[in-house]
Amino acid sequence: MTQYGMTIGGESVKGEGAFDVVNPATGQVYAQAPDCSAEQLDAAFESARTAYRGWKDDLAARRAALHAAGDLLMAKAQELAPVLTAEQGKPLGEAAAEVFGAGYWLKHHADMAIPHDVIRDDAAARVEVVRRPMGVVAAITPWNFPLMLACWKIAPALLAGNTMVLKPSPYTPLTTLAVGELLADVLPSGVLNVVSGRDPLGARMTAHPVPRKVSFTGSVATGKRVAASAADDLKRVTLELGGNDPAIVLPDADPAVVGPKLFDQAFLNNGQICSAVKRVYVPDNLHDELVEAIAACAREAKVGDGTVEGVRLGPLNNAPQRDRVAELVADALARGATAVTGGKAVDGPGYFHEPTIIAGASDGFAIVDEEQFGPALPIVRYASVEEAVERANGTHFGLGGSVWSADEDRAYEVASSLECGTAWVNTHLALHPGQPFGGFGWSGVGTENGPWGLEGFTEVQVRHRAKL
Ligand code: NAD
Repeated sequence: MTQYGMTIGGESVKGEGAFDVVNPATGQVYAQAPDCSAEQLDAAFESARTAYRGWKDDLAARRAALHAAGDLLMAKAQELAPVLTAEQGKPLGEAAAEVFGAGYWLKHHADMAIPHDVIRDDAAARVEVVRRPMGVVAAITPWNFPLMLACWKIAPALLAGNTMVLKPSPYTPLTTLAVGELLADVLPSGVLNVVSGRDPLGARMTAHPVPRKVSFTGSVATGKRVAASAADDLKRVTLELGGNDPAIVLPDADPAVVGPKLFDQAFLNNGQICSAVKRVYVPDNLHDELVEAIAACAREAKVGDGTVEGVRLGPLNNAPQRDRVAELVADALARGATAVTGGKAVDGPGYFHEPTIIAGASDGFAIVDEEQFGPALPIVRYASVEEAVERANGTHFGLGGSVWSADEDRAYEVASSLECGTAWVNTHLALHPGQPFGGFGWSGVGTENGPWGLEGFTEVQVRHRAKL
């Protein structure tokens, strides 16, 4: 297996130490990643600070570089897919789609307008509002979509004129390291630095004096620590955190149509998506039929090593996450719920869990109230739509939510009362680089993607000229 270096100041750099990387399909250590020292982190931030001076002034060069970076990722999708599958677990086709999609994200942003408004122009004054870059960004990503989520940060941050030090999760460092090395050919040195290390490296980044912005994607618990650390010197923060997205099925929906879609949008990436469907609210009249329609999909889904042809669901990414899903399922079953399919982790090797559909759970069960982030979906009965909306809104989370109905307008009306960043109708998980993505409540602070996400990597400057 190729050993990847960190990218600091355009050079590939070995760590002063190293840490193990495990293949979740086998549970075996198969590679090592560099462990960034304090001096190397300083060097990465210093190179980003130096590169910022030239990078911020040439928008045309930034657009061209982002296009080149996007083209490169798209061209390398098949080559990088096995690297991603080995460390993350997802099937090869999904891994290639993630790499390709990350390239697409870069290219989409390359052409995005940077707002520049003239808010007054009269005999007395001309007043413009411009967006200036912030400087160096510290970017920290989780293990479920390491490359896609990195590009959600790289694309707008670099377009706006910032430079970056990026740290992937210690569970999935390799694809991001590989991409750091690749992009060194198309980005000026120091514009994008990639470092790797265990969790304390993230804390050192958020406390570091150089970055002016922290862009973080990960769990709620870590997000709160990041916000507290950034507050010390008033770094700007964007936090994309956990979700517990409800899907409300209205009484007129067709279970045969809705069931397979709900399965797809709950179990993609083995349920390890912040804005996957995590709980389904269903009326009595549809309950049994919908449970069966979703369960049929779960029974059909082939579970296994993501490199094997035909596998739909890979392993969970890591042992703690597999154990957490298994505990939430066991807790629900112990409290009287039923596993219509699945119900337990698969004996090792590898971190597999049976695709599990839970009936008979309700609010107050941990698997309904908390984020499971894995292949287990509770289906919860409701008596009235008003009550379903109240229960859907009744957690600290507010990332996404969806409403499903044969009557699109009625579904839209119900979806409008969901308290979350994205309210979908008859779909879930539909994302686009031009569409903002963010969460209410504990699901996050700020927004990524589209012009709204770009704004998050800028400071507003007013330029006011009085006319003499
Ligand atoms: P995590 O919070 O454990 O780790 C995320 C990143 O933070 C990793 O790179 C980790 O090394 C780093 N980190 C750990 N401690 C840190 C600290 N004190 N300071 C700074 N960085 C630190 O999250 P995870 O388990 O890797 O990811 C799963 C979570 O991410 C789920 O809750 C999921 O919902 C969430 N997520 C959210 C989004 C979104 O866009 N809202 C997208 C994907 C995942």
